[in-house]
Parts: sequence; structure tokens; C-alpha cells
Amino acid sequence: MGYNVAIDGPAGAGKSTIAKLVAKEKGYIYVDTGAMYRALAVHFLKKGLSPEDTDAIIEACADAQVGIAYEKGVQQVYLNQENVTSILRTEEVGNMASRTSPIPEVREKLLELQRSLAREQDVIMDGRDIGTHILPHADVKVYLTASVETRAKRRYAELTEKGISCDYEEIAKDIAARDARDMNRETAPLCQAADAVLIDSSDMTIPQVVEEIIRLCR
Ligand code: C5P
Repeated sequence: MGYNVAIDGPAGAGKSTIAKLVAKEKGYIYVDTGAMYRALAVHFLKKGLSPEDTDAIIEACADAQVGIAYEKGVQQVYLNQENVTSILRTEEVGNMASRTSPIPEVREKLLELQRSLAREQDVIMDGRDIGTHILPHADVKVYLTASVETRAKRRYAELTEKGISCDYEEIAKDIAARDARDMNRETAPLCQAADAVLIDSSDMTIPQVVEEIIRLCR
């Protein structure tokens, strides 16, 4: 069994940025489970499916094979042998992932892949249900959050820096809607595990959050 660090929290809390830095410092493998849901979302989009058509989504899971590989320590996600890593971060894919991730069959599809990665090596894995459901015996559990306003401001700054025009109010609305979907779904909803350490990064810098998590690790 590898040493397992679980980081859960809402969209935009900085989980991936923080987890990547901790992974580098501690020599862990960083596992981004959101990217796996996004890869399945690409599959559903390619088939032209609507996220509301649950039966079709479930049926489509049968011919989707999601795989993970690491190139120079960076996670690569494969969908039916094709590397889809570069197309996972669009709003369209994120929205499809958020709307299809509540479906139990979609979650079941990715469960064993996530658990097997953690069995075989030392990992820091981020997602929504890692500490509560995927790795209930993780060595360290963190629930990383920040206010909706902080998360929306960070996202706005990130997009503006990339030269992408966007509307702050729209971003804040989208983040709040994603929170509601992730927290209120029946299967594996986003919540803080009883034994997770809560870190609210609203008024913290990235190095401060990284340091706090490293302090919790062996
Ligand atoms: O974290 P990221 O935004 O890449 O995740 C995309 C979507 O996948 C989220 O909106 C969430 O609904 C879903 N997800 C999940 N469980 C995880 C990781 C992501 O339901 N462990």
C-alpha cells in the first residue's frame, strides 16, 4: 500500500495547484481525479449526448476506457488509447463532467482506477470524494476550501491573464452552481470527512497552504 494523501474540496479551491506542489516536494505522484471525469465527459460529448439523457450516458460508459500514464511526472489521461489531456480544461468539458458525475455508473467506472493508483504508489489525490469514499483509510485527509468570492476572483484573474474575456458575475454563478451539484448529489456528495483537516485558503498564500499540508504528512 502506498502512502496516501487525499485532498477534497469545491471547484476552484486551488486543489490541483497545491497538490502538484506538495507532490513535487514530497516525491508523491499527483492524481487528478477530476481529469478522469472530464475524459468521460469528452467521450459523451463526442457521441453528442445530452447530460440529461441518463440512460444513454450509462450505455456510453460501456465503450469508454479511461487510462492514466505519467510522462516526466505529469499526469496524462487517455480515452480509448487517445491522449486527451490537452482538451480537458474547457468550460464545455467541465460542465459536462459536473453534470454527469452524479450518475452512480459514471462514478463506479472510475472507482477501481483511482483505488489501484493509490494501492501501488505514494499519491496525493484530489477530487470530491477521495477522503470520504475512494480512500477512506488515507494517511492524511484535507478538505481545502475558500469562499465563492475568492474562488471566482482567482478564476477571473486566471482567465484575464490568459487574454480570455469573461464576466466575474457569470463565473461566481457557475462556481455556486457547481458547488450545489457536487454537494447535493445522492452518490458520494462533496463533504468534509470526519477525520479531514479543514483548510480555508481564502486569506492564505499558496506557499502557506502547501506548508500546512506538508506539516501533516510523514
Ligand atoms: O476538479 P474538476 O473541476 O476537474 O472536476 C470536474 C468535475 O468532476 C467536477 O465538477 C465534479 O462534479 C466531478 N468530480 C467528482 N468527483 C471527483 C472529481 C471530480 O464528482 N473525485
